[in-house]
Order: sequence, then structure tokens, then C-alpha cells
Amino acid sequence: MEEIKVFCPATIANVSCGFDVLGLALDSVGDEMTIRKTSEKGIRITKIIGQDLPLETDKNVAGVAALALMEKSDYDGGFEIEIDKRIKPGSGIGSSAASSTGAVWGINELLGKPFSNLELVKFAMQGEKLASDVAHADNVAPAIYGGFTLVRSYNPLDIIPIPTPSELFATVIHPQIEIKTSDSRKILKTTISMQQGIQQWGNLGGLIAGLFQNDYDLIGRSLHDHIVEPIRSILIPAFDDIKANALKVGALGSGISGSGPSIFALSKGEEIAQQVAESMKETYQNIGVDFDIHISKVNSQGVKKIT
Ligand code: ADP
Repeated sequence: MEEIKVFCPATIANVSCGFDVLGLALDSVGDEMTIRKTSEKGIRITKIIGQDLPLETDKNVAGVAALALMEKSDYDGGFEIEIDKRIKPGSGIGSSAASSTGAVWGINELLGKPFSNLELVKFAMQGEKLASDVAHADNVAPAIYGGFTLVRSYNPLDIIPIPTPSELFATVIHPQIEIKTSDSRKILKTTISMQQGIQQWGNLGGLIAGLFQNDYDLIGRSLHDHIVEPIRSILIPAFDDIKANALKVGALGSGISGSGPSIFALSKGEEIAQQVAESMKETYQNIGVDFDIHISKVNSQGVKKIT
């Protein structure tokens, strides 16, 4: 294979109670990337459609992630990468993770899959480091493995794929303001109380158990975040109303997607996810906030080949 076109899914990180450790992949929104082998050594980004992002290899997350892979590879040619950027940067649904993932996953396919998924996550994390100063894995892991993933440990890196109940749908609304991950990290406190810890690990354990047991009520009871959400939600227009209205029409839970400003809700079934979308739209239309909205099944496959 000389060339591959890949779909790189958007992802929701944190998922309320799993700050920096939990994430899930979406189906209906993602970037597309074309990667081509070249005889010329190195990585070149030849084209970016849709967003104004750097073409320089060391300034684009796709380039940085690809270089991390090349460092561990004995392949002596190079690659060129085209990015059709459909996920807006700074939206909180893993825009940078999608590009990092697509680059390393696509190159690995072209090389005959010498690297494991865990190794690909490590390469893609270098792209995340460029985007937000922190090499976090909670977006790149679900983008690569699909479904929900838990980062049990960063050192050593230990990624646990979690089964996804088949009727789980996400609704994500993106108010058209940009919040940089690095900025939304700065406002967080660096310590938590014992009481906050107990609430959070109770909920995270409950959510994981709910996912394994297909127990939608337990999933709903567990989707709470008493640590990060109260601080970050201040940056997001009408967060409390969007969340309250989503729950009113039947969402299992709702919270900030990644570092925001996108807000997600999880629902049982597409019909409720649609109603949640209507309630979210109405809330922003009433106060004149522009938005994008996505409804998606949780994507159990992750990044994939298109052609
Ligand atoms: P998100 O959480 O949506 O990925 P971030 O704020 O974490 O948003 O990351 C976006 C940052 O990464 C921006 O500063 C953007 O310029 C930079 N960046 C570099 N290359 C890319 C790329 N290929 N896709 C998205 N963002 C990129």
C-alpha cells in the first residue's frame, strides 16, 4: 500500500468523573487525512483544508506525532500528509488528538503495522504535548482503540478499553467561542479535598461498572464531576441551563467535553439524543449564541481506513 485515507474521530475526554483518564470516540464527526509514502525522507504536511493551521511539520500535531513514530522506525523513506480538518481546533472534542491519531495510525498501516495500539498512543501523545503542553492520552486513546478507554496509569502507560453499551448516544453542542486547553488548565486548583476524592472515585467506579453491565441508570447516576466542572463551567455560556434542560428531556448525564467549551450529554437511544439536541439548540437560540451541534453513536471502532 502506497497511500491511505483515514477517518479520525472526534472524542469526548473526561466524561464528567474521569478527568484526564476517561474518553470516548464519536462516529459522526471527525477529520479525514490522506497519507502517502514518498521516497524523500521525513514528514511533509502538503495540504490543510478547512482550518488555518501550520504546515510546518514541527508546528502541526500530525507532524510531531509522525516524527515520534519515525524515530522508532527503521523505514528509510518518508510520508506526505494531507488534512481535511472538520473538527475545529479549541472546540473540546479532540481536534488535535484526531490529527495526531490519524497520522500515526495511517503511517503504521502503510508500514505493515509494526507498532501496537499502545505504542501509537505514545506517539500521538507527543502531538497532544505540542497542542496543550501536556502529553495527555484521554483523547488519543479512544481515537485509536474506539469506544470508551480508561488511562489507568500514565507511568507506565496502561490503557484499558471499556465495552460500550449499544444504545449509548452522545449529543455535543459547541458554542462558537474558543477555549485553549492550556488556558482552561491554568484555572484549575492543584489539590482536592478527601471528600471530593471520595465522590469522584465512587462515580468513576460506578460509571465503569455501568458500562460493563449495560446499566444505563447506573451510568446516569455516576455522570457527575464535583471537581473540575464547577470551575471550568464558568467559561462556558449558559452551561447550567444547557445541562439542566438536557437532563429534563431525558439525558442520562451531561458535562463539559474535554476542556470545553463543548458540552456533551449521553442518552439511551437516538430519539432521546435528538430531543437533547433540540433542547440544547433552543437554549442557545434564546440567548443568541452561535453553535455547532453533533449527535453520534459512541464509535466502537475508532480511527479507520476510508480508502
Ligand atoms: P482541541 O482540544 O480541540 O484539540 P486544543 O486547544 O487542545 O484543542 O489544541 C489545538 C491547538 O493545537 C491549537 O493551538 C492549534 O493551532 C494546534 N494544532 C496544531 N496542529 C493541529 C492540528 N493538526 N489539528 C488541530 N490543532 C492543531
